[in-house]
This record gives sequence, structure tokens and C-alpha cells, in this order.
Amino acid sequence: MSTTARSTNEYRELDAAHHLHPFSDMGSLNRQGSRVIVKGDGIYLWDSEGNKITDGMAGLWCVNIGYGRKDLAEVARQQMEDLAYYNTFFKTTHPRVVELSTLLAEVTQPGYQHVFYTNSGSESVDTVIRMVRQYWSIKGKPGKKTLISRWNGYHGSTIGGASLGGMTYMHEQGDLPIPGIAHIGQPWYLKEGRDGESEADFGLRAASWLEEKILEIGADKVAAFVGEPILGAGGVIIPPASYWPEIERICNKYDILLVADEVICGFGRTGDWFGHEHFGFRPHLFTIAKGLSSGYLPIGGVIIGDEVARTLIEGGDFNHGFTYSGHPVSAAVAHANVRALRDEGIVEQVKKDTGPYMQKRWREAFGGFEHVTDVRGVGLIQAFTWVKNKATREMFAGSDDVGTLCRDIFFKHNLIMRACGDSMVSAPPLIITRTEIDAMLSTAVECVEQTEKLLQ
Ligand code: PLP
Repeated sequence: MSTTARSTNEYRELDAAHHLHPFSDMGSLNRQGSRVIVKGDGIYLWDSEGNKITDGMAGLWCVNIGYGRKDLAEVARQQMEDLAYYNTFFKTTHPRVVELSTLLAEVTQPGYQHVFYTNSGSESVDTVIRMVRQYWSIKGKPGKKTLISRWNGYHGSTIGGASLGGMTYMHEQGDLPIPGIAHIGQPWYLKEGRDGESEADFGLRAASWLEEKILEIGADKVAAFVGEPILGAGGVIIPPASYWPEIERICNKYDILLVADEVICGFGRTGDWFGHEHFGFRPHLFTIAKGLSSGYLPIGGVIIGDEVARTLIEGGDFNHGFTYSGHPVSAAVAHANVRALRDEGIVEQVKKDTGPYMQKRWREAFGGFEHVTDVRGVGLIQAFTWVKNKATREMFAGSDDVGTLCRDIFFKHNLIMRACGDSMVSAPPLIITRTEIDAMLSTAVECVEQTEKLLQ
């Protein structure tokens, strides 16, 4: 059956009848009817009514290589014929997972030689929770169990990931967080900075909240600090340059593992291969997913620094894993994807050309609006925030009313950007060209003008 064998209305009706969507108010979605997406190519999508849509979000921040790569489809087809499935439990392996692991050791900085595979970012985060506790047990410090993360951070939807995340609206459903998780404030100058405080000083103060929390809990009870290099779903919160080196210093001082959640920042999003390289720190472990396969198939993992890996290897059984850890078809596609990101110079292009170009044009496009502030970004991840008063940094009363209004106007103009609260966020496929950036921003400016008129 072709992807458009039914009419749009039939798809909508059947969708409403049988499908509960993630992160959706199903009542309102069913009243409006879903948009039916049928095709993708480059940075563009097409819906069942023939509309061409610019995907300013690379799906869910994941289609780094862009849509429609026939070479990835061919790799998947071939691998399904050769070996559709085998597991990596019980002393077995297969060529595709070995090749992917070897390639990952090449694209990461020296000192990260091992990877543990999962199927998603959330599973990677849950793996981290168990792995750091196991690490400290092997080290003879089983009391070091608590993980510290940030309010407004996002670490996935499993019980562990949602607990570690700092989204209170997620905690309210399902009695989260689980025990053994603590949160500190986010390093967002717009919201947390003091009048007259420099961004550099704010970065140090935001990092000091970690030290305070460690002292409150007791360093002998803290296993790890986990943070996204740039908070993604929280609204692309980019910490001041002083923040991460200070976090690293504090973790080392108190013998606490530093974990970067690179699910969004990884695989070139910031122009460097990983977000921690951009900010100049070395996590003991880091999570990966999304850009690892550019979303072509589900696969994630945890990249483990050498000292932690040595300890785990010497520590005996780690009783953890998934039926599809290192799935051969996902591994083959991820390998082809990562090789293309490297060998076609896609990550390098973000660093040297399209990233700086986007950042310059993004600031020119949105810097002059009366109600838009904190126009920010790195590489090909960027945002701005709607505020009632730029000078006083006063926000609008509803926490996401203006963001949602603006997002819907973008959507009507066939441009996908995301509203995270009142921050408008964009993270397009990394293959976007300068011409496509110009076209995307010209539509976006029109939409922001329309939104601002409605605020008067
Ligand atoms: N960690 C971060 C930083 C994320 O942004 C996400 C998803 O957006 C996750 C973890 C969860 O990944 P997944 O949705 O693949 O489970």
C-alpha cells in the first residue's frame, strides 16, 4: 500500500480512532485533525495535501543528515537481507556493531573508547543511572547513589529519564521523581541573572548551586551530575562560558562523575562533534541518540570514558541491556550516517560556514523586535524568547501563550519551529544551505511580525 493510499480525512479519522500521540492533548488534537506527513527530502517535508514544509526542527532535533538519503535506505535493506537481527548478549557480537563502535571511538575525543548501546535517549539516561551507581559500588562506595540534574532540563520520558529531567509538568504525572534524584537551578541568565551581574559571574554563581547541593546531600552520597551542554527542550538555554569548566572543577573536587546528555548536542549540532567539546569540558560518560542515526532508525548509547570503562570491565556482570542493544540494522545505518557526517564534511561545514552564517542572520532577523529578546544560538541550534518588557526582562503572564501563538503562525506558513514555553526554537538538518537559511528566516520574520501585531 502506498503512503497516500487513503484520503487525508480517512487518515485523520483512523488516527483519532486508534492512536494516542506522545506529549499531546488528544481531545484538542482530534478536534483539529493531525497533519499527515508523507514524504521528506533534504530539509523539506510534504503533507498529504501536497504542502511543502520547511523543517526547522530536523524532526525532533534528530535528522542531522536531512531526509531522503537513498544510501542509508540501501544499507538498511542489505543488512536486513544479511542479518536482520541478532543480539549482543551472552558473548556474541556482529560486524556492524563492531564497526560502529570503532567509528565512534574515532569521532570522539581521545579517552572514550567504549560504548553501551540502547534504542533511545531515554534508555541511555536510564542506563547512566544504573551505570554510575554500579561504578561506585565496584569502587567500594555503594552509598554514592544520588544523581543531580537541573530544573527545566530534559532527559527523556522513562521513569528514570523523566525523574532526572526537571520538567515539573512531567513530575506531576506518575509520582515523580523517583528517590535518589536532586535538582538545581538552570544556568539561564535571562531568568536567573541579577541586574548588574555579568554573564561570566552568573555562570559561576549558577555552577555554585551544584556545590551547595552536594554539601547539602553529602559528597559521599552523590554519584553524578547530569546535564545537557545546552538545555534543548527547556528552550535552548546556553550557559555562559564560565559555567561548564566550573561544574567540572566542582565534580572533580568532590569525586563526582560528570555526565553530559548529548542526545541533542551530539553529532555536529553545535558545530563540534559533541557539545562538551564546544564548552571545553570532559565528561566521564555521555549519552547519545538522535543524530547517531539521524533518526533513520532508533538507536542510542552511552559513551564511556576509559577510567569508568576499565572499572566496569573489571567489576564483573553489569546486569543491564535491551533486546535491541546494538541492533545490526540500526548499527549499519548509524555507521553509514556518522561516516557521511564526517566524510562529506557536514559537521565541519556547520562549524566553519552554515553555523556562523545562521547565527549572524538569526540575530539580524530577530534582534529588532519590541517583544523579542535573548536572541541566541550556537552552530545550528538557536532560539529567542518573547518578553513583555525587554528592559526589565518581564515575561508574559501565561508561560507559553505567546510561544504557542507564534508556533501556530509558523505552522500555517509551512515552517516548523518549536515553542518551548515562550522561547521559539530552531534546529534544522545540518545539511541546510545558506540560501535555505535565508528563505527560512524570511518566512520566520513575517510570522514574528504577525505575532507581534497580535500582542498590541
Ligand atoms: N535527553 C535529551 C537531552 C533529549 O533532548 C531527549 C529527547 O528529546 C532525550 C534525552 C530522550 O530521548 P528519546 O526521546 O530518544 O528517548
